[in-house]
Amino acid sequence: MKEIILIKDGEIALKGLNRRQFEDRLMKNIRGAIKDLGDFEIKSAQSTIYITPLSDSIDLDDVCDRVSRVFGIAAFSRAYVCPEKTLESVLESAPVYLAETLKNIKTFKVEAKRSDKKFPYKSPEICRETGGAILKAFPHLKVDVHNPDLVVNVEIRDFGAYVRGGAIRGAGGIPVGTGGNAAILISGGIDSPVAAYMMAKRGVRLTAIHFASPPYTSPRAEQKVVKLLKKVARYSGDMTMYTVPFTEIQETIKNKCPEELFTIIMRRLMMEISQRIAEKRDCSALITGESLGQVASQTIHAIGCTDAATTLPVFRPLIGMDKQEIIDISYKIDTFKTSIEPYEDCCTVFTPKHPRTRPVLKYVEQAQEEANFGPMIETALENLKVTFINPRED
Ligand code: ATP
Ligand code: MG
Repeated sequence: MKEIILIKDGEIALKGLNRRQFEDRLMKNIRGAIKDLGDFEIKSAQSTIYITPLSDSIDLDDVCDRVSRVFGIAAFSRAYVCPEKTLESVLESAPVYLAETLKNIKTFKVEAKRSDKKFPYKSPEICRETGGAILKAFPHLKVDVHNPDLVVNVEIRDFGAYVRGGAIRGAGGIPVGTGGNAAILISGGIDSPVAAYMMAKRGVRLTAIHFASPPYTSPRAEQKVVKLLKKVARYSGDMTMYTVPFTEIQETIKNKCPEELFTIIMRRLMMEISQRIAEKRDCSALITGESLGQVASQTIHAIGCTDAATTLPVFRPLIGMDKQEIIDISYKIDTFKTSIEPYEDCCTVFTPKHPRTRPVLKYVEQAQEEANFGPMIETALENLKVTFINPRED
């Protein structure tokens, strides 16, 4: 039995002249997502991408699972390739291919799409004949055109005739790589993996930056971040993670800066260092998991002070979301359970008892100047650890 996967583009359809570029990128991303599952032919025609497995040992369930997380796909479905592009072949194939489903339902209807206009039968005839063949094979069924249990789709395309059941909703969004590059500041918490997912969905290719302060933070805390990024990479594709050694800087903040400004200064230094890494990696923006008012460092004034530390745009896709809304997404992308594992983050080291919720930029800058972080930033940048994140290995 020859089965393939048919994919319908998402928002790509809106992109006019760039369409070709978007579709090429989408096909590349699909190829990347399934390359370890076997050999495939991937081609596109008439707003549809075809994935044809080139060996019988490939499990299409696995392929569908991967495809369901590729951004830029509105819907996809498995489809049977009829042995011949004739009406007879369709009539023979439909009841056999869909037998398991047809056995267990009560009503159906047939929809036909004839993009090959040379095919000698028109859509209404194809529907009528296919419906007849199905009713003959499964006499318990009834046709219901308004609310059927199953829509049987027959598609007569340039490459052949296909039979399929209903389509599955895709991940939506736009293909990763068409929206530029940005660096996600990733902690081990709930929020930043969700922020990463949301920007990847808008086509952004990610680079990850994590700040670690050993021995205050443990290697296991860093491993937790790697684990989270692997989950994110199932959507965003492979990425590079930079771990910044942050201990000396954090100890200096603690020893030389006013306590109520610890957090805001730490966040500004994170931004400054991230910008330097971003520039090297050709990233045009930073991404954080901040949400307005969630904690003292995320008040409107604190965020203003944080932003002043970088000239790059800072994307905060969670800024207007409630915690529960963020958690719902973290369940959906399967990061929640990992995020709540109890490992320390550098943000939880040296937290002040009374952080300033209305920090004044002038005083923050003054405190930073007096502590002279410049040489420490250079040292941290010289000692970055690089980890390659690949979601296909565990
Ligand atoms: P999260 O759940 O993402 O940790 P949070 O609500 O705990 O967020 P903070 O700890 O104040 O908030 O961090 C705000 C943002 O700063 C995070 O979403 C993340 O983007 C960034 N951040 C925090 N800690 C780190 C870290 N150790 N390395 C890199 N980025 C970090
Ligand atoms: Mg945190």
